[in-house]
Amino acid sequence: MTRVDELLALGAEVKGFMPPSEGRALYEAGLDQRRGGTWLEIGAWCAKSAIYLGAAAEQLDCVVFSLDHHHGSEENQRGWDYFDEELVDAHDGRLNTLPHWQRNIARARLEDVVVGLVGASQVVAPHFATPLDLLFIDGGHGEEVAWADYRAWAPRIVPGGSLLIHDVFEDPAAGGRPPYEIYLAALDSGDFTERAHRGSLRWLRRR
Ligand code: SAH
Ligand code: MG
Repeated sequence: MTRVDELLALGAEVKGFMPPSEGRALYEAGLDQRRGGTWLEIGAWCAKSAIYLGAAAEQLDCVVFSLDHHHGSEENQRGWDYFDEELVDAHDGRLNTLPHWQRNIARARLEDVVVGLVGASQVVAPHFATPLDLLFIDGGHGEEVAWADYRAWAPRIVPGGSLLIHDVFEDPAAGGRPPYEIYLAALDSGDFTERAHRGSLRWLRRR
């Protein structure tokens, strides 16, 4: 098994919210980047998407910052649709994906490629100044959080860099609006053009 096959298989196996076809598309978007760049994903969960991105970043000597407060979004809390009892920390009863994220990145042998940023996106954003070659938005999907992520982070993408947005559904019956709205806003801004899409993953390029 090649290294890439190993990582794509591991990405498919770990807990998370992305079918393998979209994971592969994320990997392919990563492969299209320049060498040595800085990437950021918002919404790490248990490192599924970080492994797909990491598989490409490793080949290009890029670093992926994988940002999350690791306490889950609203829909991940007890009583909601995407709650997972296995992710509850027995110590304090809170959802905590960080140990799972760490174990999965270690298992993938991506510790020198994927670096965790533990905190809320809106807290980190004003203090993170590195221009981004690739930004993957897959954090909170509520109106306020999704727009805050787009407004704070999309301007940091360098010309020619990539903006990837997950859970973009044109049909309101298929999923929540905010990721679709920020996708439209990015196109309307005139700063981005569409590169490709697979499933609910949209790939835009900064002019
Ligand atoms: N990319 C992951 C899925 C991410 S789920 C995968 O491939 O499986 C969305 C994540 O966003 C959750 O882990 C949640 O904790 C995180 N999140 C939600 N709001 C956030 C915020 N304001 N700051 C940081 N992380 C946030
Ligand atoms: Mg998602």
